[in-house]
Amino acid sequence: PQPIDISGSSAPSDILHEVFGYAQFRGAQQDIVDHVVGGGDALVLMPTGGGKSLCYQIPAIARQRAGRGVAIVVSPLIALMHDQVGALHEAGVSAAFLNSTLDWEETQDVERRMLRGEITLLYAAPERVNTPRFLSQLDSLKERGKLSLFAIDEAHCVSQWGHDFRPEYRALTVLHERYAGVPRIALTATADALTRADIVERLQLEDARQFVSSFDRPNIRYTIVEKKDATTQLLRFIEREHEGDAGVVYCQSRKRVEDVAVSLRDAGINALPYHAGLDASVRQQHQDRFLREEGIVMVATIAFGMGIDKPDVRFVGHLDMPKNIEGYYQETGRAGRDGGPADAWMAYGLQDVVNQRRMIDESPAGEEFKQVMRGKLDALLSLAEASDCRRVRLLGYFGEKSTPCGNCDNCLNPPQVWDGTDAARKLLSTIYRVQQLSGISFGAGHIMDILRGKPTEKVKQFGHERISTYGIGAEFSEVALRGVLRQLIATGALAVDAEAFNTLKLTEGSRSVLRGETQVTLRESVSSPAERKPRREK
Ligand code: ADP
Ligand code: ZN
Repeated sequence: PQPIDISGSSAPSDILHEVFGYAQFRGAQQDIVDHVVGGGDALVLMPTGGGKSLCYQIPAIARQRAGRGVAIVVSPLIALMHDQVGALHEAGVSAAFLNSTLDWEETQDVERRMLRGEITLLYAAPERVNTPRFLSQLDSLKERGKLSLFAIDEAHCVSQWGHDFRPEYRALTVLHERYAGVPRIALTATADALTRADIVERLQLEDARQFVSSFDRPNIRYTIVEKKDATTQLLRFIEREHEGDAGVVYCQSRKRVEDVAVSLRDAGINALPYHAGLDASVRQQHQDRFLREEGIVMVATIAFGMGIDKPDVRFVGHLDMPKNIEGYYQETGRAGRDGGPADAWMAYGLQDVVNQRRMIDESPAGEEFKQVMRGKLDALLSLAEASDCRRVRLLGYFGEKSTPCGNCDNCLNPPQVWDGTDAARKLLSTIYRVQQLSGISFGAGHIMDILRGKPTEKVKQFGHERISTYGIGAEFSEVALRGVLRQLIATGALAVDAEAFNTLKLTEGSRSVLRGETQVTLRESVSSPAERKPRREK
């Protein structure tokens, strides 16, 4: 790449001050900006709120001022495009977008301005980029040396391992092939090692410099509790710590979103539902209220949140477990973008594990894909089951080493752990014996009844009181046994057969537990809320 003149008005730090009104670059911004201004390719991994936008906006402005023409920003989210273009206009930067919300006249107007070099940043949806019409316009800019750079936002959308795969992203390889020499910067807030490698491969960024920021969000306190009555638990949590605060509560299904929103409203909380089954106008209205009014709790499916920039969300709750750690991280990352104290609170239980496994098993995907998904689910489960620092685990998942944070539930209130090895062996051998005796498998409830010696109708009907493990686990509470089952399933030492009424099946991994070779360590049931230490002031 030819060097460009970045003296005078196109110096990045001057643009930072004069256009954006900020005193200093944050974190790696300066390095990234310098690299891209100079014509280098970059892959930027930075957590939500880290300041990714400036990493391409400043190079775009600098290069435009140096006569290099227009920067194309590929973004999957219309709402985000509108926000960004609006903000750029306010800062006096010439920006525009091309997406489905424009009519023909407006589209032509933007295209004309772009071709005349009157636009510094042009935001376009990925499907637009790959149209012959748009490509021929880019060709024309390229020929005249007026294509300054490509920014590919939400770059994880290119990866099928990511949580938000968008096939249109795959076609973006065209940028590299057709416009070699035009610098490209790809940005994302979520990428584990696998997704990162996939981004590099799919977008042909092998030679790009990687800028990996810390993914730590120190102001977020992580708490994961065992699910009993999730809605009541959530209510207590909100009443105790977030009265009147804005928050987002994620649920798995639309029905559950509706129910929880009603429960919260009944309890006097200003809650609104949001899911894809609501009318677009209702969704828009709820979103607007969430953004504008104070103290609204949005109860939503994961359809809500991407690209919504509300800095003062004080908590994110999960009433159902997400699919994987990337999803969890992304969703919890919407809390505390202003840097103030915020909570990420999740309730999870055995049923979550069963549901998520079933969704994977029943998905039409290939076996390799399912294996990867199961592995990702297991990683989230072990985060949930962990009795040590959540943050250390979370960051560790993204390849980042850290020390106990002092600001998660486990650090603040170290859980008691107990040795569940004996209980695990007894459960597994009960499952084995029941299968031997009856030739069929049973679900968790029945197995626990046998182990605890409860003479239920079903136990009598199948003659299961004759099994040698009947009643030998009477000392274990049902909660304790559920914990053991959850962990056995989480670690693959036990399987749930979704196709046969969620019955429990032994696996290869059961053996070493049965033989007592695998230690099973469990957290004691979560301590009562009153024992929580008060929040540390910032
Ligand atoms: P991301 O896209 O990584 O989630 P944004 O680019 O939206 O983050 O930036 C998050 C917030 O931080 C925005 O309000 C932005 O204006 C602000 N910001 C970014 N960089 C700086 C900086 N150098 N100084 C002050 N504020 C910044
Ligand atoms: Zn911690």
